[in-house]
Amino acid sequence: MEVPLNHRDIARLIAHFPEAELTELVRMVPADSSDPDALKLENSWRVLSLPNQGPEKGCKFLNENQCSIYRSRPTACQNFPLKFNKKKQLEIAPEHFLLYELACDKAPMPRSSRAIQALEQNEREFKEYRRLVKAWNLRVGDQVEKQTLTELWQYLKNYS
Ligand code: SF4
Repeated sequence: MEVPLNHRDIARLIAHFPEAELTELVRMVPADSSDPDALKLENSWRVLSLPNQGPEKGCKFLNENQCSIYRSRPTACQNFPLKFNKKKQLEIAPEHFLLYELACDKAPMPRSSRAIQALEQNEREFKEYRRLVKAWNLRVGDQVEKQTLTELWQYLKNYS
């Protein structure tokens, strides 16, 4: 499963691992150009995601079934497996199908202010991130030499 990252998620990861290389904290996953999170990177379309432990393997930060970066985990992880429905009620996200089938009768979840705050924060961050993504794609255009992860972070960190 891909865990999408936005600019604020990356800033939290860097603060947690100040000595780490950016490529140890962020994975560039091939994407479709129509994806609102798709960036022009290295002459291709990519979305930014949490690194995993290898192809088809779990998150790099999962250690003995526990999140080793719990306080700095991305907002997508903070929300898992909840989402807002059209009436802005909490429900289990259908993409988490197994859990949905096993543990949810599709009824709205009881209101939980922490979960609502986390989802609202996630929405705000990704709205801001998508504006930055659009601006980045226009800015780098066809200049492949400018489409590096390091250049991208130099640009994004001004807004993090
Ligand atoms: S909660 Fe922690 S271990 Fe799980 S995917 Fe997120 S960062 Fe990785």
